[in-house]
Amino acid sequence: MNQTALGTGKAQSGGGARRGAQVLERLRTRPPTIWYRGELVRDVTTHPALRGGVNTLAQLYDIQWEHADTTLFDSPTSGRKVARSFMLPKTIEELRSISAAMKVWEDHTHGMMGRVPDYINRAMSGYAAGAPYLSEADPRFGANAVRYHEYLRENDLCLTHTLIPPQANRSVNSARQADPFLAARVKEETDAGIVIRGCRMLATLPISDEIMVFPSTLLKNPEEDAPYAFGFSIPNDTPGLRFICRESVDYGRSHYAHPLGSRFEEMDAVVIFDDVHVPWESVMIYRDVQRCNQAYARTGAVVHMTHQVVVKNIAKTEFMLGLAHLLVDSIAAEGFQHIHEKLAELWVNMETMKAFLRAAEADAQLDEWGVMRPAWNPLDAARNLFPRLYPRMVEIIQQIGASGLVAMPLEEDVRGPLAEDIKRYYQAARADAFDRIPLFRLAWDASMSAFGSRQVLYERFFFGDPVRMAGALVAGHQSQIQEHAERVREFVRQGRDEAFAAATR
Ligand SMILES: Cc1cc2nc3c(=O)[nH]c(=O)nc-3n(C[C@H](O)[C@H](O)[C@H](O)COP(=O)(O)OP(=O)(O)OC[C@H]3O[C@@H](n4cnc5c(N)ncnc54)[C@H](O)[C@@H]3O)c2cc1C
Repeated sequence: MNQTALGTGKAQSGGGARRGAQVLERLRTRPPTIWYRGELVRDVTTHPALRGGVNTLAQLYDIQWEHADTTLFDSPTSGRKVARSFMLPKTIEELRSISAAMKVWEDHTHGMMGRVPDYINRAMSGYAAGAPYLSEADPRFGANAVRYHEYLRENDLCLTHTLIPPQANRSVNSARQADPFLAARVKEETDAGIVIRGCRMLATLPISDEIMVFPSTLLKNPEEDAPYAFGFSIPNDTPGLRFICRESVDYGRSHYAHPLGSRFEEMDAVVIFDDVHVPWESVMIYRDVQRCNQAYARTGAVVHMTHQVVVKNIAKTEFMLGLAHLLVDSIAAEGFQHIHEKLAELWVNMETMKAFLRAAEADAQLDEWGVMRPAWNPLDAARNLFPRLYPRMVEIIQQIGASGLVAMPLEEDVRGPLAEDIKRYYQAARADAFDRIPLFRLAWDASMSAFGSRQVLYERFFFGDPVRMAGALVAGHQSQIQEHAERVREFVRQGRDEAFAAATR
């Protein structure tokens, strides 16, 4: 029995914006079906591989109340305080208020937890805004998106999402894999809903309440791909749904030893649908290849998500700049020219991301659904650029930190019999050993640990394959590129005409 409030037809009412204790309580009483190292995780709030990230997730919900003026707004239906990232903005001021709200969580996580709940909150807000587009296929689907968005907002639930089929054979589509049920597909349709069997490659933040299941890969064949073309959301404890985690990048150590990994492990998991029943009330797209291909863009969901991503990029770049400066300062490396160049590079990255955000908001326009949609061009540029900037920023931390990143004792050493050695030999020009060690451990965690390298992979890929995103950019901006090409053509023509005219004079 699917227990989604939508599925059971319960009212949309909820308590509005949650606090951390409620987040933990929901995860305890309705645990996502998560498997870790061969075992079912009974309680994600206490499991060593997951509890660090879960605790941070819960903290975020307390923080939203500490900054309620910035992060919350009055629900248009219940009047309760709800998260601003569920807002459908009508003005540029409202749009800016959303990014200000999103920055609060990003500052707390320093951009190191890509899936703070705002990310999917913005996606679902986009789908709700563009509900008329979903309704063109079936009026129920648009209504479901609107109702689901309201349900999430009023209950302040946290979502993960899963988009792509498993990486078995990328040279053919899902229907032509050796096993046509490898990729999640419709197995059957009933009066009550649809049954899904198969797998989706990845979901970051399985430690969440519900999952949004939409395709992002371009589906090509309207007939063949139809069983794979759907969009729905269901609770993470839905029978038959299970998540298989990768190895945790939280080493189970203290904030001193593992400052990022111990706090911000959001986890990634493969998602298996073992004949999962999805009630019609939860379905937003069904067997509709064209709508799957266009929904992100037409509803505006991709734009609102990218808006959130750029706020994350700013916070993350600010963090890397601050970290680089502290490393430089501690070992008195500020006099070297190449250090200036590296700090300047980080600064320029930060200002570039800020400029993209500012431009996207300044040039925002009401879209066809009456929602203030950020301008796409700067956001599209940002999402194509950041996958290249972030790995370079990590490289800069390595280049500045050098052997300091590995000449790092552990907590036990600092407190052990060699404490005097450590005090003497780990000092820095402007920091004693006890200040220097946690700073350099932070730099190690950002640039070298399993946590740090997973961040690099995340930034390279989480929004899609950079190669295909570049292809989409070129295709999407063809007419603007063409305009510039025409001006160059005209310039070439002028030169040619002048030369010929001179020759015939
Ligand atoms: C840390 C992390 C977190 C993620 N979180 C999520 C999540 O929460 N939800 C979610 O749905 N997804 C998530 N993703 C998946 C992300 O969407 C994909 O990584 C991305 O879309 C690329 O797909 P892929 O990883 O399957 O790579 P593949 O498609 O398998 O590509 C592998 C290689 O082949 C090349 N290639 C494959 N096909 C083509 C083609 N047609 N044209 C040109 N080159 C091609 C690629 O360029 C790449 O070099 C996450 C990824 C990472 C790394």
